[in-house]
Amino acid sequence: MRLLLKGQPASRGIALGVAHVREPLMHEVREETLPEGAIEPEIERLHAALDIARGELLQMRVQLQGALSHELGEFLDMHQLLLDDPELVLGMDDLIRTARYSADYALKLQRDRLLAVFDGIEDPYLRSRREDIEHVLGRVWAALHRGPTSQLAGLAGEVLVTDTIAPAELSQLTQRGVVAVVTGAGSALSHSAILARSLHLPLVVGAHEALAEINDGDALLVDGTTGEIIIEPNAEDLRRFKRIRREGQRERRELEKLKGAETVTRDGVEIRLLANAESRADVDRAYALGASGIGLYRTEFLFMQGRSIPDEEDQFLVYRDLVMGMRGRPVTLRTLDLGADKADRSGIALSHEPNPALGLRGVRLSLSQPGLFRSQIRALLRASAYGKVNILVPMVSCVEEVDVVRHLVASCTRELDEEGHAVAKRVSLGVMIEVPAAALALHSFGKRLDFLSIGTNDLVQYLLAVDRGNDAVADRASPLHPAVLRVVRDVLRHGRKRGMPVSVCGEMAGDPAYTRLLLALGLTEFSLHPGNLLEVRRIIRDSDLAELQRGLPRLLRAHDRAGIEAALRLMG
Ligand code: PEP
Ligand code: MG
Repeated sequence: MRLLLKGQPASRGIALGVAHVREPLMHEVREETLPEGAIEPEIERLHAALDIARGELLQMRVQLQGALSHELGEFLDMHQLLLDDPELVLGMDDLIRTARYSADYALKLQRDRLLAVFDGIEDPYLRSRREDIEHVLGRVWAALHRGPTSQLAGLAGEVLVTDTIAPAELSQLTQRGVVAVVTGAGSALSHSAILARSLHLPLVVGAHEALAEINDGDALLVDGTTGEIIIEPNAEDLRRFKRIRREGQRERRELEKLKGAETVTRDGVEIRLLANAESRADVDRAYALGASGIGLYRTEFLFMQGRSIPDEEDQFLVYRDLVMGMRGRPVTLRTLDLGADKADRSGIALSHEPNPALGLRGVRLSLSQPGLFRSQIRALLRASAYGKVNILVPMVSCVEEVDVVRHLVASCTRELDEEGHAVAKRVSLGVMIEVPAAALALHSFGKRLDFLSIGTNDLVQYLLAVDRGNDAVADRASPLHPAVLRVVRDVLRHGRKRGMPVSVCGEMAGDPAYTRLLLALGLTEFSLHPGNLLEVRRIIRDSDLAELQRGLPRLLRAHDRAGIEAALRLMG
């Protein structure tokens, strides 16, 4: 029967597909003792589930033949090995036979035991393999409860319905032909959401009822633009789906005409549109659209996708490729920003900090791992020989951090020079303004920095004390707060006074709803996802900057969100 659910829109686009529900793993399995006669059937039930899980892996392999990346192949091999591991399987048989536990409870105990072993491992790479245990045992768990899901696993046209989704999983999902993702928790500002937008994968987050209401195999219509999910859509929904698709295509064709057009306001002020890129494909798109450069490349995604830590050479090749892709236009490469919601698969970031958003994240983590940081700086500097590279440092809160990074850059430059590597004469260094302390103490940085980039995603999180990944407070995570507007205005003012370029690279810069607001606050450099570049360009070309700036005092006088929204409406 048709049912409409609502979540938060997190990545635009509309998709029609078949639900594949991934239950939260093994929560609430109770210990219960089986009667004598139930023991052998329970062991059979367990083995049937193991067989189903093996069959699903095999089927995925067959379906993906030819398209299997090396990493995905490794991933499937590892899972297959785990399912055949005698210690795991015989251990579960034994628990059912001797302790008379259910297959579910035996599976949970083995999982807990294995995870505890992995947590105790020193080697960060091996420790991070705990995810594989979770995945593979989760597959057995699903099979124990639902029987085979193989007709759905990995098929094109699938909508994944899950509690949460990790950034590292997303690119694998698109490779497997998943057309949309719905999560019960999460927020539109999370890194998973950012990555989904980069992959053009429609995503709805915070759909609390999704797991309870959606069953495997349900037909689903997912609208990542409005946050609507329709279970078993009717003929009218399908007509609407087709219409929205057609309109979307038409609008895209219209916007495409602005490709390569100038980004100048009606009153003749030139605005720079830079692109946020997560991949080489984003860079190509940005170039083709006429972006003035790359304003933010998040290098951490490189570390999150792989099965191992990329070394200097691996990184250099990727960075060089990006820089060359922009053919002389500047490319701002951000040093690692792992930690908080960007836990990685390589095990570099600590996954068990009590308060990770305030912990060893971004530059703090890099400074705590000098060897790793050095190899990244060397790779970035080597790439600078192939185009204009700017180095951007995330999560900076004080000048001491900047000084250490500056010394490191200078020492790596000398070292590379001695080794005979080419490095650009001048590589600009900038910091993200996302920790309120940095925004409020800009004077303390003196002349050490060449540019600033305002990270509104984290600036909002830290200024307003709202966790950007927590859907319970998602409605509070808005830049339309007097404190945010003032800080952004002041940072822009500081840059103007010093003749230092300042961009905004948070999601706010790519949201057409905020384009006029940012122009009024004095922003002349937007760094945004290429998918939004043309729409923002159209708004800028339709705007009169002098007129917008006349509306600024009213905007800044507003005390609350409603007042700010009203002032914004008056801006057109
Ligand atoms: C930000 O915080 O606004 C930003 C651009 O960085 P990230 O989203 O990667 O934390
Ligand atoms: Mg940030």
